[in-house]
Amino acid sequence: MITRRKSIKIAGVNFKIVQKKRVDLDGDWGEADIDKREIYIARETTDEEFNATLKHEILHCLLRMSGLFYSILKEDYEAEEGMVRMVENLYLPIIEQIDEKI
Ligand SMILES: [Zn+2]
Repeated sequence: MITRRKSIKIAGVNFKIVQKKRVDLDGDWGEADIDKREIYIARETTDEEFNATLKHEILHCLLRMSGLFYSILKEDYEAEEGMVRMVENLYLPIIEQIDEKI
């Protein structure tokens, strides 16, 4: 059974995971606030969507915490989203294959 996490440690920092109404996330499914150490996820998600959104928002956190968002990405939100989706949609499925039984 999948349960919805209430917190997660990212790079040694504890982030609180808060469920919000999607309308309060400007229609998005998730959002990360690095300064507040909080990740917001729409409560309308299924458990699987919740976890997928959490993985997506964690990638945003990594780009901010590593400084790449401010250096290489020059605080370009579209470029950041592209990098997040590249890892999420292309890299992670490859990595998951490594743990599959062959
Ligand atoms: Zn995103």
